[in-house]
Amino acid sequence: MKHFPIFLAVEGRRIILAGGGDAALAKLRLLLKTEAKLTVIAAQAAPEIHAWADASRLTLIQRTMEPGDTMCAALFYAAHDDAKEDARTAKIAHRDGALVNIVDNLLESQFITPAIVDRDPVTIAIGTEGAAPVLARAIKKDLEDRLPTSLGTLARIGKGFRAMAEKLSYGAARRNFWSDFYFNAGPRTMHQGEDAIKDALFTLLHNHLNEDVKQGHIDIVGAGPGDPDLLTLKARKALDKADVVIFDQLVTPNILELARREAIMINAGKTGFGTAMAQEDINALIVEHGLRGHHVVRLKAGDPTVFGRLDEEINAITTADLSYTIVPGITAASAAVANIGQSLTKRGRNSSVRFITGHDTKGYADHDWKELAKVGQVAAIYMGKKSARFIQGRLLMHGADPSTPVTVIENVSRPDQRVITTALSNLEPTITNKNLSGPAIMFLGLVPRAITQQLHQLCKADVQDVPPQISTQEAL
Ligand code: SAH
Repeated sequence: MKHFPIFLAVEGRRIILAGGGDAALAKLRLLLKTEAKLTVIAAQAAPEIHAWADASRLTLIQRTMEPGDTMCAALFYAAHDDAKEDARTAKIAHRDGALVNIVDNLLESQFITPAIVDRDPVTIAIGTEGAAPVLARAIKKDLEDRLPTSLGTLARIGKGFRAMAEKLSYGAARRNFWSDFYFNAGPRTMHQGEDAIKDALFTLLHNHLNEDVKQGHIDIVGAGPGDPDLLTLKARKALDKADVVIFDQLVTPNILELARREAIMINAGKTGFGTAMAQEDINALIVEHGLRGHHVVRLKAGDPTVFGRLDEEINAITTADLSYTIVPGITAASAAVANIGQSLTKRGRNSSVRFITGHDTKGYADHDWKELAKVGQVAAIYMGKKSARFIQGRLLMHGADPSTPVTVIENVSRPDQRVITTALSNLEPTITNKNLSGPAIMFLGLVPRAITQQLHQLCKADVQDVPPQISTQEAL
């Protein structure tokens, strides 16, 4: 972020604009919405500027700018449609200590004015750091269409009622009250005038104060492999409503940012000393917040039903008589296989696929190695980094072809995703040599489609997936 968005208090402060033509008019239309003391300095000013000056909406000084004109100004805009005059006046403003913006000159400006959606006091500022003004305009248009014009009035009246609403307890109760106001009672009474809106607020508060204490609810939500675009809409909605988010270590910061700002965020992946939190402690946390009437989002990497200790958490939830919903997510295997352009099953190759774990409660996990060792088998191996040598040994011992391809995908769907393709015989030391530091999933029996295609070209033969002698090379 090269530009940090803030909302500047300008009430009663001076904003100076130098220039009197089209660029000046465009900026002034926006600045006139503020409660700042506006001064325009221009030897020649457009008729609109004269009219605003006559109506005392701004002060007009009819001459070119001089040193001292911008003393004590909060902001200065150079808007002459003339680069030379802009540079001259900006220099003066710099010396006078004002923050300077030169219209249409990003590089020389100390601040930029965002695209604004105005539902005062609700103001939405959209900026692209000058990278894509078209995009900013499109987003603005979209928001203009979506947000009712009444929003500003409702927010203003709502603001005056905040102290009253504190009679409701913090968290779900207060939030339910406000969403009831902004999305139901408020818009319904909008056309009846401000007094009716205020009456509606009192009635609503009375109703909410007399409601039964809300029961907590737990949403067990799949966060997917890391890319926020791979979240389901249901997951997004759950995050929007959450009072508390209890998240796993593998959930990425980008996704955590989507949670409601007021939500309490608890990292269940770590304790204060960096060790993993015990499952019983996580269960206790979920139940504790649920019993307080909170909407708890238990946010788990990938899909909660895949190697997620889901049943243990559900047992704890139901034992405490709390309700829950499971919101599925995209499991690492699904995202990973998509990213290598392959299919988990394929006619004529494998009619089933296994999701297996490298280790379980007893240590290295045992599987039907004999079956897995057969030609054409596909398995997605979760948590397999530490047990790679064990898996390799077991498969080879049970007769697997040493040249069977294995593709390891680290940090699936994240900017630092890595794809490593090797042969079973070479799985170790490849895993160790590659220093994998992020989560990684392995596919037994799959090669990225891009490599398969390269091989097709190389061999000029009709190869099925990958010829053994080449697949033993580390391909990526
Ligand atoms: N519930 C999760 C799996 C939890 S087990 C899911 O459905 O994906 C944790 C293992 O999942 C990790 O050791 C790794 O093997 C895999 N995994 C999870 N996220 C991953 C990611 N972004 N990239 C690669 N592997 C991932």
